[in-house]
Amino acid sequence: MTADISTPENAPSAARYSRHAKLALIGPAGQAKIEKSSILLIGCGSLGCAQAAFLARAGVGRLTLADRDTVQAPNMATQLLYDERDLRDQAPKAEAAARHLRAINSGIAIEPVVADITAANIEPLVNKADLVLDATDNFETRFLLNDAAVKAGKPWIYGGVLGTDGMVMAVSPGQGPCLRCLFDLPAPEDRLPPPDVFGVLATAAAWVAALQTTQALKALAGGKADWGRMHTLDIWNGSVTTAEVPRDPACPCCGRREFRFLKP
Ligand SMILES: [Zn+2]
Repeated sequence: MTADISTPENAPSAARYSRHAKLALIGPAGQAKIEKSSILLIGCGSLGCAQAAFLARAGVGRLTLADRDTVQAPNMATQLLYDERDLRDQAPKAEAAARHLRAINSGIAIEPVVADITAANIEPLVNKADLVLDATDNFETRFLLNDAAVKAGKPWIYGGVLGTDGMVMAVSPGQGPCLRCLFDLPAPEDRLPPPDVFGVLATAAAWVAALQTTQALKALAGGKADWGRMHTLDIWNGSVTTAEVPRDPACPCCGRREFRFLKP
């Protein structure tokens, strides 16, 4: 029996991605670039789940998903990809996310990496990506990512959420500030209340993820995002403020290129 090759799920990409391709801001040429792109997501929590779903549906050619954790009960309120089977199995988040994303779009490459991201493994992951999305929940990993991305000359999109607030800034080495131009050193972990203490509103995470993903799509389709503009959101009040972040010529990362977080 011959397989039917004209099933709805393997329709030509022109049909599948027509909503984006018809946007004047993306267009068919921008969509083609998105389909050839490779994105690394560091973290498969509340931010990473939403980013990955948007990017898989947008047709990004390759998604690499890195997370060391397993699905736990408190994740279910804010991490949109997981179901109760994942919770019952305490599935590794990167593998569970990859399985759900393959069911959303079987035409793209999805690679789960079940690992803690450290100085020992981040550089090959960043080097093979066109762009990196920050979906971490701690500043140590963000500064590690900042060092690896600046060293490799790769753009990355900072995003953080806590409570009902969030922040987003697109970083492109050489075209604006990096994270260390803004924060000289990572805030000690004990000064940042973790989500299980302070709480996170799922819609705030989805909003931050939507803004980060938009910056990524702008960069991939048009080569340009809002480099160095810090967007600060409060979804409870519906407010967004934007501030230009200056580049620090004496920045130890993008200025002096010391990359201390990459050193073991
Ligand atoms: Zn810098």
